[in-house]
Amino acid sequence: MTTITNLAYFFNSQLIEGDEMSTDESQRYLVMTPGPVQVPQEALQELARPMIHHRTPEFEKILTRVLEKLSKVFMTDQPVFIQAATGSGGMESALVNVLSPGDKVISVICGKFGERWAEMAKTFGAEVLPLNVPWGESAKAKEIEELLKKNPDTRAVLIQACETSTAILNPIEEVSKVVARFPKTLLIVDAITALGQIPLPMDKWGLDVVVGASQKAFMLPTGLAFLSFSKKAWPFVESAKCPRYYWDIRKEKKANLARQTFFSSAVSHIRALDKVLDRILALGIEKNIHVFSAYAEATREGGRALGLVPYAKTPSTSVTALALPAGVDGEKLRDQMESKYLVTIAGGQDQIKGKVIRIGTMGDIGPKDILHTIVCLARALKDLGFNCDEGAAKKAAESVFTKQGIKF
Ligand SMILES: *Cc1c(COP(=O)(O)O)cnc(C)c1O
Repeated sequence: MTTITNLAYFFNSQLIEGDEMSTDESQRYLVMTPGPVQVPQEALQELARPMIHHRTPEFEKILTRVLEKLSKVFMTDQPVFIQAATGSGGMESALVNVLSPGDKVISVICGKFGERWAEMAKTFGAEVLPLNVPWGESAKAKEIEELLKKNPDTRAVLIQACETSTAILNPIEEVSKVVARFPKTLLIVDAITALGQIPLPMDKWGLDVVVGASQKAFMLPTGLAFLSFSKKAWPFVESAKCPRYYWDIRKEKKANLARQTFFSSAVSHIRALDKVLDRILALGIEKNIHVFSAYAEATREGGRALGLVPYAKTPSTSVTALALPAGVDGEKLRDQMESKYLVTIAGGQDQIKGKVIRIGTMGDIGPKDILHTIVCLARALKDLGFNCDEGAAKKAAESVFTKQGIKF
């Protein structure tokens, strides 16, 4: 079903079978974290190409088609902008381009990234109404609605589509229906681990600002943030009073119309993005979503068969958090996975540090990478003295692929 190549898996599977490892350091790890992720070969090749200047007809052509393709992934008729930054830069850009100091903002906090957005909004002088959700759970549209009714002067609702620290999905479609009833309120969505991985049609659902980043579902190295503003959001962009210079999207919009970026373009990243977008669009967003949701389901079922419990009540397709049995230290397990099995996974943050592991299912991976990760996880658990059934876990994951029609 997928045409995805699995170089890291190839070398790692050799290790599992006891053969010699590749000596190429660059192929050493299978990166199964929720960003960064495995970068496809065709993108790596683009990143290695000789430089061209960004104010050239050649680059202008590339930029123009990349921006068009990005709009397809965002599923919007609005322009999508590229900013040279990590995802958090995109989050900041989203805020300063629509808010003014003193604006009231509802910040949905389901985990670390929700906390970050609330902090950022405070930094720029917003009056933040936090909506705290217990870790592992998703926000409820009803609660957002109640808070909005009490505070009809709210300028924006900030929310993560997928809260990467707890691996939950928020009910964005439902929330969008609520916010749509408040003409003076924008819905601002951190879709950094969601775009391309879960259904998130910006125009159809009426999402007002959507933010993505290169090192997650876009399968590239860290360094690019993407964002788009709805028709409802553009008047906010014009009137926003937060200080903005680097992030000022009005300058970027003007430059893009002239087929350029306002500041120097991240030429190598954008050329690589061109290739990745071709891959995503060739498979189609829907199929892409289908494949990655099968990867996440297989990860959950494999984990369950090992005795680990999915932590998120409404689990994401881009990252899976697995709660560990008492006596298994998540940090040690993560280290064992990396040092002995060369599979990099993520640990838990803050209140769930040591208690969960997080496995990313984004990037250039295939079913074999999932199976390999589960087998290594079983072995690492055994190394730490936890008895589990490797064969049963592999079978559980395989049966998900069979059920979803994915060859492995
Ligand atoms: C990764 C991520 C970000 C951005 O993190 P950066 O390190 O700044 O790229 C923001 N939100 C979510 C939900 C993420 O997963």
